Amino acid sequence: MNEFNLIKTYFKDKQSVRKDVLIGIGDDAAITSVADKQMLATTTDTLVEGVHFLAETKPEAIASKAIAVNLSDLAAMGAEPCWISLSLSLPELNEQWLQEFSDQLAYLCDYYSVQLIGGDTVKGPLSITITAQGVVPEESVLKRDSAQAGDWLYVTGSLGDAAAGLDILQNNLNVVNSQDRQYLIDRHLRPTPRILAGTGLRRLASACIDVSDGLLQDLNHIMSASDVGAIVHLDKLPLSNALGNNVKRLERALDLACFGGDDYELLFTVSEELKTSMQSALESFGIDYTLIGQITGSKEKLDLRLNDQPFEIEKFQKNGYLHF
Ligand code: ADP
Ligand code: MG
Repeated sequence: MNEFNLIKTYFKDKQSVRKDVLIGIGDDAAITSVADKQMLATTTDTLVEGVHFLAETKPEAIASKAIAVNLSDLAAMGAEPCWISLSLSLPELNEQWLQEFSDQLAYLCDYYSVQLIGGDTVKGPLSITITAQGVVPEESVLKRDSAQAGDWLYVTGSLGDAAAGLDILQNNLNVVNSQDRQYLIDRHLRPTPRILAGTGLRRLASACIDVSDGLLQDLNHIMSASDVGAIVHLDKLPLSNALGNNVKRLERALDLACFGGDDYELLFTVSEELKTSMQSALESFGIDYTLIGQITGSKEKLDLRLNDQPFEIEKFQKNGYLHF
C-alpha cells in the first residue's frame, strides 16, 4: 500500500462531510468557509509515544486522546469545533494499527461533527499532531486574561482522575473495584473535551482555561495573564467517587487533584453579577461544576485553604507535571 492509498483508505473515505468544507483531503490545501461575524480559533497539540502516552497504548485510545486534547483547547476558548488536520509520523506501515486508529478518529469526528480536512503522513517515531479549528462569535471568546478580583472560581467535573488512572497503569495505585479502575483509566486514556460547557460559558465566564497541566498550574496561567490572585478551598475540590473510594489519604487525593494533569475539565471565573445566569446555563446543559474559590486582587498570590485554615503548598510532595 502506498501513501496515497493509505490516506484514501484510512482517512479520506471515512469522513462525513460538512457543508462549510469546499475542499477537503486530496488537494494541496483544504478550503473551508467561516460564517459572517464568526472568529476562527486554531490550536495544535502533539502526542509523542513515551512522552504523552505509554508505548503499549492502544491506537483507539491514542486517537481519543489526540482529539480530546485539541477539542478541549477549543472548548476553553468557547469555540465550537469544526475541522481538524492530522500529521502522522509512523515507524512502519502497520495496517492493523491504522485501522483501529482511523476507526476511532472517524467515530469521534462524527460524534463532534468535525471533519478531517487534511494532514501529512511521514515515516518516523510514532507521533500524532492534530490541528483543530473551530468558530466562536467575536464577543463570546473566552480568554485567560480577564479574571477580576471578586470573581468566583469554578471547575467542571472532577479533578485528579486522569492522574490516578495513570498511577494505576504504572502500578503506583492499586484499585481492586473493577468499575472504579476502568473509570479512572478511561479518564486518563479517553478524556472528554468539555465542549458544551465551553459554549455554555460564552458571555458568562470572565476567564476560562482547560485543566491540562494540573489545577494549580493552570490556575497560575489565569492569575498571571489576568494579574490577579486566588483563594482555593482544597476541601471543596470535586473528587469523583472512584477517586475518593480508592485514594483514602486526603493529602494524596488533594495532590492528585491539584497537580495531576490531563483531566481536561474547564477552570473558569464568573462575576457575582453573572453567577446566577451561569448556573442556569450550565444546569440546563446538565453540566457538573463546583465552586472552589475566588479571585483576589493580590497579584499572582495563591492562597490555599483547608477547612478555612491556611494550607502550605510545600505540604504536597510532588510538583505539577512540567514538560521541560
Ligand atoms: P502534499 O505533497 O501536497 O503535501 P500529501 O501527499 O502530503 O500532499 O497529501 C495529499 C493529501 O492528503 C493532502 O490533501 C493532505 O492534506 C492529505 N493528507 C495527507 N496525510 C494525511 C493524514 N494523515 N490525514 C488526513 N489527510 C492527509
Ligand atoms: Mg505532505
